[in-house]
Amino acid sequence: MTDDDATARRLADRLARLVRLPTVTPDDGPLGPEDARVFADLRTLLTELYPRTFAAAEVDVVGRAGLLLRIAGTGGPELHGATALGPVVLMAHQDVVPAPRGDAGEDWVGAGWSYEPFAGVVAEGDDAAAGELTVHGRGTLDDKGALLVTLEAVEDLLAEGWRPHADLWLLLGADEEREGPSAEAAVALLAERGVEPAIVIDEGGAVVTGAFPGLRRPMAAVGVAEKGVVTLEIAIDGDPRRAAHASTPPRRGVVPALGRALDALERHPHPAVLDDVTVAMFDAVAPHVPPPLRWLLGRAGSLRGPLARVLQLLGGEIAAMVRTTTTATVLRGSSAANVIASRASAVVNMRVATSSTVAEATAHVERVVRGAVGPSRGSRRAGLTATVRVVSASEPTPASPLDDERWALVSAAVTHAYPDAVVAPYTMLAASDARHVARIGRAIYRFSPLRMSAAQRSSIHGVDENVAASSLVAGVRFYRHLLQG
Ligand SMILES: [Zn+2]
Repeated sequence: MTDDDATARRLADRLARLVRLPTVTPDDGPLGPEDARVFADLRTLLTELYPRTFAAAEVDVVGRAGLLLRIAGTGGPELHGATALGPVVLMAHQDVVPAPRGDAGEDWVGAGWSYEPFAGVVAEGDDAAAGELTVHGRGTLDDKGALLVTLEAVEDLLAEGWRPHADLWLLLGADEEREGPSAEAAVALLAERGVEPAIVIDEGGAVVTGAFPGLRRPMAAVGVAEKGVVTLEIAIDGDPRRAAHASTPPRRGVVPALGRALDALERHPHPAVLDDVTVAMFDAVAPHVPPPLRWLLGRAGSLRGPLARVLQLLGGEIAAMVRTTTTATVLRGSSAANVIASRASAVVNMRVATSSTVAEATAHVERVVRGAVGPSRGSRRAGLTATVRVVSASEPTPASPLDDERWALVSAAVTHAYPDAVVAPYTMLAASDARHVARIGRAIYRFSPLRMSAAQRSSIHGVDENVAASSLVAGVRFYRHLLQG
């Protein structure tokens, strides 16, 4: 058994212990006694596993069960001259999404899990890579794996006598899977104390395989920006005096008009644009893919227009990368089978491209809806009016720096942990806790230093979540390198 094997076994056993505490994201409102107990148990376990870290830190409880640890810096950053970094914030969340058992009476294996999701099983040899030690259970990837490797790295370094030059903050949210109020509270506390983080690391990308067409090497995808999120309501109102019994329908109803509006939205998508981050991603990947893709990606900066138009045709994640996406989710109309609605509405979920804004994206929808249900189509005569209302909105985040020592530090740490990975920045399609931090710091890198296959990525929030123990060893290396840098 090599040193790495022994470390992998130790980390796997520890992660299994974290998994066995089912810290499922609590419902909104005050913490119930059961939730309070399980989060308290997790805190006790973390204190037991990482005694030096908790002894060295000032610990604040933020929100309902979030933890904010501060390990004071020695104040010696000048040692490194003008390029020294300021405070570092490392984030990971303690809560996990539930693990539905599926239909009543179905056992876990029937529901698609190899092992019970909260049993915390360490298994050998059942992974694609034969003999690979694997930890199974809810939270192994999202996000207890990252929580573990962060604390392991800090604990190891403290044991070796290391101290951070600038303050090191560990922000361990307790309700990330429900908008993250504890992370929000922690950020408010940091803001109140005047903390301006030089660098923030949170979950997001990972070391992924098979994610980029033509790329044989694993890709360490580091999220450097997030798309915005807008919830819109499109409503078509009819003349209430004409609302009638279903036996005598009007010539133009609100439901077909809503249908025309939604159809038009699908036929008139937002313009495709290649943002700077995606160009930077292509630049990073280009040398590692075969021609002619290499040639094309290497010139992405000067081929933005045509490339964006081609990529949008590919659909899925690639298409979502190059524009604001729009999709209807909730539909409302009549509540009875024989009553004609006088109002029909659709909730539309938009993910706003980083090159756009909430206002611009909303204006596009208004234009398209007006074109489909406008006065020119006889809607006025039929007494139909269309309205587009913004229910909630958050702007896309600015991109974190890619041209200074902070990106260089993150890249170097990734390469140290995963020498064969191609490090590439990318724009996150989904929203994360890190957006709360965007108000106090600009250099936010969303990256879990764990290897994830396509199957493992889809197990996040799904079934059979698991992580390779060797990847935990590499994850600790990532954080050690980062902190020592
Ligand atoms: Zn997560």
